[in-house]
Amino acid sequence: MEAKTDKEILRGGQFLVKETSCDDVFTPEDFNEEQKMMRDSVKEFVDREIVPHKERFEKKDYALTEEIMQKAGELGFLGVAIPEEYDGLGMGFVSTMLVCDYISGATGSIATAFGAHTGIGTMPITLYGTEEQKKKYVPKLATGEWFGAYCLTEPGAGSDANSGKTKAVLSEDGKYYSISGQKMWISNAGFANVFIVFARVEDDKNITGFIVENDKENGISFGEEEKKLGIHSSSTRQVFFNETKVPVENMLAGRGEGFKIAMNALNIGRIKLAAACLDAQRRVTENAVKYANERVQFKTPIAQFGAIKQKLAEMATSAYVGESASYRAAKNIEDRINIRLESGNSHSEAELKGVEEYAIECSILKVACSEDIQNCSDEGIQVFGGMGFSADTPMEAAWRDARISRIYEGTNEINRMLSVGMLVKKAMKGHVDLLGPAQAVGEELMGIPSFDKPDYSELFAEEKEMIKKLKKVFLMVAGSAVQKFGPQLEEHQQLLLAASDILIEVYMAESAILRTEKNAKRFGEDTQKEQIAMSQLYLYNAVEKINAKAKEGIISFAEGDELRMMLMGLKRFTKYDNFPNVVKLRTEIADKLIAENKYCF
Ligand SMILES: Cc1cc2nc3c(=O)[nH]c(=O)nc-3n(C[C@H](O)[C@H](O)[C@H](O)COP(=O)(O)OP(=O)(O)OC[C@H]3O[C@@H](n4cnc5c(N)ncnc54)[C@H](O)[C@@H]3O)c2cc1C
Repeated sequence: MEAKTDKEILRGGQFLVKETSCDDVFTPEDFNEEQKMMRDSVKEFVDREIVPHKERFEKKDYALTEEIMQKAGELGFLGVAIPEEYDGLGMGFVSTMLVCDYISGATGSIATAFGAHTGIGTMPITLYGTEEQKKKYVPKLATGEWFGAYCLTEPGAGSDANSGKTKAVLSEDGKYYSISGQKMWISNAGFANVFIVFARVEDDKNITGFIVENDKENGISFGEEEKKLGIHSSSTRQVFFNETKVPVENMLAGRGEGFKIAMNALNIGRIKLAAACLDAQRRVTENAVKYANERVQFKTPIAQFGAIKQKLAEMATSAYVGESASYRAAKNIEDRINIRLESGNSHSEAELKGVEEYAIECSILKVACSEDIQNCSDEGIQVFGGMGFSADTPMEAAWRDARISRIYEGTNEINRMLSVGMLVKKAMKGHVDLLGPAQAVGEELMGIPSFDKPDYSELFAEEKEMIKKLKKVFLMVAGSAVQKFGPQLEEHQQLLLAASDILIEVYMAESAILRTEKNAKRFGEDTQKEQIAMSQLYLYNAVEKINAKAKEGIISFAEGDELRMMLMGLKRFTKYDNFPNVVKLRTEIADKLIAENKYCF
């Protein structure tokens, strides 16, 4: 694909009000040779170094996690996103996502250790550090000579991250800060050499970030390893700072800039976390397919039962859709970063602004992919029946490991509310024109609907029309809610959650349709039969969900004529002219999986 210009790429959140052509989306089928090589070498590494030791990961073998991380460092996987001048590979955002995706599939313990180190443990220095800080720390972190951890959460400050009590007091000679406080749930704490610590200077409104080297002689101590539901070999401890001396030159960005750093690090962390859920889904689906083909009941392989086909089809579909949306957004981010680099931004500025632009999509993906892997592994257990409940099969650990993704990097509730909140803010700033399209929907609702029968002969013609209508549902619900509640909208959390579900479903469904359409155009429709079925199946489910959520939202604030009009609008905007036969679609998808005996999309 050629480099895009500023005007050619959608701004973050604009997907909702602008139509995207399939030629303008990046898909996994567009990976270049370098990206494919990276993917294959990570896959090979995981199959060689991680899969054979799965049992040890369940037995809290923290040393094994550290060993694997070191090996990953030797192969360059920890430095994909880091510029070459700091001993990284300096690869693009898509490659970074690919490594996160494929390194995370076999066990959540490595997914977490890798994510905490390369994302929140390293990125704050790469992106906000001074030249001296970067030179001193980044090469060590990029190569795995040192490991990083991120200390934001405290016993009293979780989702409300800026409320931490950890203090940083400047020494009389002005040479160092003395940090005291308690951090909890710190991933990689057991083997980290350097911590990104957030603390408050005096009574500042916002916290400040510091780079703190691990030195037990310097007032740093640890709690025991937490006893957790999953990710058993990911080290998670409390970290206590007792008058830990940190040179002033180790402050990150400026005083009071910590909250901004924390939030931006999380934006990047969120989309990478989405990627980290993808290969787990592929592997879970593949294991389920293989088991279903082998397991015989009633003299029949259970894969032949409609009830099992339904599960396999839905599992594969969510993996395909998650992948479509994640790489679509990743490429938008990469393009935006490149445009900024070309216009003279530094690497850090370009990367920060590039990701920040798509913070809405990052939140959407974090929520969608973390819930998909949860559902996928849950159904995986069901396919295995009693064996699924056994720790001797892969499903049990996959299910437990999946659970954390809905909690960290901002809980899914917080991310749902953020996605809508950020969109409304962008609209207020004029970055995304929601008002015009929302007014147009209002006028359409007052008008007489057209009874013309559209021409749906082209692939996805009806589906694309449906996506347009679903966008109108969001504009109708969110637009009226903003009008009604103004700045108080944020107090109406259940309404925001409903609106965010509409937003999420639209983005995910559209991404799958565009990917499949692009591939059908270039490789031929007959090569994409099951992908077409998956896109249609996902959309059908999305329409059902959107219908329910929008109804709930509308009823919460509208009454009388307005209520009736909006419900009628909802009916119109979620109406299929030709219902897809989802039973047939699922059967087609499952039959392909069963025949190939693997995840084959
Ligand atoms: C295994 C693990 C590893 C972790 N690793 C790290 C790490 O490396 N570094 C780090 O700093 N932190 C880490 N965390 C902490 C993690 O980021 C927090 O647990 C998370 O942000 C939620 O905070 P909390 O646990 O205090 O929950 P709370 O904030 O107390 O939330 C509890 C519930 O209330 C909801 N809630 C909270 N506020 C609101 C609101 N305003 N509106 C609506 N609902 C709300 C939440 O969604 C949630 O359902 C880790 C946690 C775990 C479990």
